[in-house]
Amino acid sequence: MSLEGRHLFCPGCGTDIPVPRDARPGDLIECESCAGVLFRLVEEGGREALRLVQRVSCPACGERIPVGDDTPEGTILCHGGASFRLRKEFGAFALEPRDGERPLCRAAAPKAGE
Ligand SMILES: [Zn+2]
Ligand SMILES: [Zn+2]
Repeated sequence: MSLEGRHLFCPGCGTDIPVPRDARPGDLIECESCAGVLFRLVEEGGREALRLVQRVSCPACGERIPVGDDTPEGTILCHGGASFRLRKEFGAFALEPRDGERPLCRAAAPKAGE
C-alpha cells in the first residue's frame, strides 16, 4: 500500500480525487475534472466526505462567492464591505441587496486612493 496523501470520492464526477494532507474539515477542495466547482471537506459520522459547494455571484462585482449547500435562505453574506441577503430560487442561490442598502461592494468600486 503506497497511498500518497488522501483521496476522497468526488460527488461531481464520481472518481477519487486527491485531498491535501493538511486539509481539514471546512476546507475547500477543487476537483480537476469538475472545473468551476468547489467541494467542502466535511466529516460525517467520523468519515471524511466532499460536499458540493455552490457559488453565487456578487451582484456588485460579479465575483463568485462559495456558499454551502445547507446555508439557510436569508443568511446575510458580506463581500467587499457590502452585505447581501441569500435567496434560493429554484434550487439555485442568488444574492440580493439588503433592504434600504445599496450594493457598495468595494471590490466593484474603482480603485480609490487618489
Ligand atoms: Zn470531480
Ligand atoms: Zn463583491
